[in-house]
Amino acid sequence: MQAGIPSGEDRLVMLDDLLLSRKDTLIDSISIDSEFVFSDKPAHCPHCHHNKIGGVFVMGAYMGNLLWECDKCESMFLRFKKDETEEYLQAAKGAWTNPFDWRYVPKSEFN
Ligand SMILES: [Zn+2]
Repeated sequence: MQAGIPSGEDRLVMLDDLLLSRKDTLIDSISIDSEFVFSDKPAHCPHCHHNKIGGVFVMGAYMGNLLWECDKCESMFLRFKKDETEEYLQAAKGAWTNPFDWRYVPKSEFN
């Protein structure tokens, strides 16, 4: 296992799993609780003060946790600035819609 692979309380999701609505930007289409950036995993949920916060690892977006999520109230929080997060989410979208962008392409697919 390499660094950046989700473990423990972290969960691995597809971008589509996060999209609740279709807004102009992906970041606005997922439910982010505030624009405050937590570069490190918050010790307590800013909302309900629950002390179990997990990371959200979005496939194809960023090799590490992209968001934080409260285990209790399920609020999600930013790890990166909003526009930066949007860029990562856009990358995930590209990965999903174009299979050739995927990192792991079977050797037989190459000419
Ligand atoms: Zn909470």
